[in-house]
Amino acid sequence: MILAVSTLKNLPSPTGGYRGRFAPSPTGPLHAGSLVAALGSWLDARKNRGEWLLRIEDLDTPRCIPGATRQIQAQLLACGLSWDGEVIYQSQRHDVYQRALERLNGLQCLYSCTCSRQTIANALAKLGIETPRNQEMVYPSTCRPAHLISNPTDSLGQLQQAWRIALTQNCHIEFKDLALGSQSQNLNTEVGDFVLRRSDGLFTYQLAVVVDDAEQNITHIVRGKDLLSNTARQIYLQEILGYKRPEYLHLPLVLDEHGEKLSKQTLATKINTQDKKHSLMELRKAATHLGLQDLPDGENVTIAEWLLAATHAWRS
Ligand code: GLU
Ligand code: ZN
Repeated sequence: MILAVSTLKNLPSPTGGYRGRFAPSPTGPLHAGSLVAALGSWLDARKNRGEWLLRIEDLDTPRCIPGATRQIQAQLLACGLSWDGEVIYQSQRHDVYQRALERLNGLQCLYSCTCSRQTIANALAKLGIETPRNQEMVYPSTCRPAHLISNPTDSLGQLQQAWRIALTQNCHIEFKDLALGSQSQNLNTEVGDFVLRRSDGLFTYQLAVVVDDAEQNITHIVRGKDLLSNTARQIYLQEILGYKRPEYLHLPLVLDEHGEKLSKQTLATKINTQDKKHSLMELRKAATHLGLQDLPDGENVTIAEWLLAATHAWRS
């Protein structure tokens, strides 16, 4: 197939400053699943003539692998997925998360908790609630005080106790996913008061991602469907912290032969970007997974040309 090279000038202009992002955790190199998230978010940003930022979510240091960040960046670049602006590292942003935690504390919606997983499981068992194996336990508010107060600021950093957000009553969150349509979750019955700072002192993904998406003025969050069930929690935090709600688009997951989500923990094979030919092959697989059709399939197409065609084909 011969590619008619057109420019992005032909694409519709954005309605208002689109800004997207890709936010990998450096727990290993990119695999087929993370490439789908990278490509989908990149295409959505380019199609909307927006910016695409790269944020390294390296908060959970025990799970991070040395060198993974560098590998991820090299893989993205080999696939032509270049990012705008400076890369942000969550591991360097503790102060920002701490300030958000202090703000929430000032709003009297934080409380400390020393429950272990076992304590929570026992409390649930007493209530006759059994959690299916692959589901997270709904926290039964064991440590929630009858009257919420602002805690002394210096206690927020104390180890050996987690800090949970006290949900208001009737936290029924509804949102529209651009791909999946109407979504809803009742945080009280499906999640419970969730942790913002762990007992080992680490800020949780939920808090950090909300603070960063807001601080970076992210308007569109395009990511894998495995993160869909976190969205209601994130919207809840946005509302309490007074942040704007971004648009959400969750992409189809890549499953392995057992029907399990590909992940770095299950040692999913890294994508092969050793040369242009292999990078293009990986991009083509990711594009097929995203449902893109009629993309240039010849050997001679450059990655830039292919990406341009994919951008035109994206959600048109
Ligand atoms: N860091 C998360 C992950 O790698 C993605 C966060 C997000 O896109 O909201 O699974
Ligand atoms: Zn507790």
